[in-house]
Amino acid sequence: MSQTSRTWREELRSLGYRVTPQRQLVLDAISELEHATPDSICARVRQTASGVNLSTVYRTLDVLERAGLVSHTHLGQGCTAYHLAEEADHLHVVCRGCGTVSDISLEVAAPLVDSLRDTVGFEADAKHLTVHGRCANCRGEDG
Ligand SMILES: [Zn+2]
Ligand SMILES: [Zn+2]
Repeated sequence: MSQTSRTWREELRSLGYRVTPQRQLVLDAISELEHATPDSICARVRQTASGVNLSTVYRTLDVLERAGLVSHTHLGQGCTAYHLAEEADHLHVVCRGCGTVSDISLEVAAPLVDSLRDTVGFEADAKHLTVHGRCANCRGEDG
């Protein structure tokens, strides 16, 4: 399963970054994991490269993000999750009851984005948006 586009290598090089095995492994981990946290990325990478530690993963994520290949979102409680940039066109809702994270179309946030721009001139990055609340299942259990 290697749907990571080939062009990421060219993209890194064109920005003056080297293509390294770690960068490849971190990108692969992000494409395989859903809402990949640095911890889960590290665990996945270590299955192949046991010498990799968390600070290497953080440094690699930093480079990949600056190169525009990945983007992150904050899911609350200090949890930062990474997506491939090309798959990051959604916002997140996180359930306080069961902890489920769901991807939501950016169209849902369009009225909010428009209204922020119109009322206070703020250009919102909805891809970075996480909304906390309770999912349909958990609401149902409460009656
Ligand atoms: Zn829930
Ligand atoms: Zn997501």
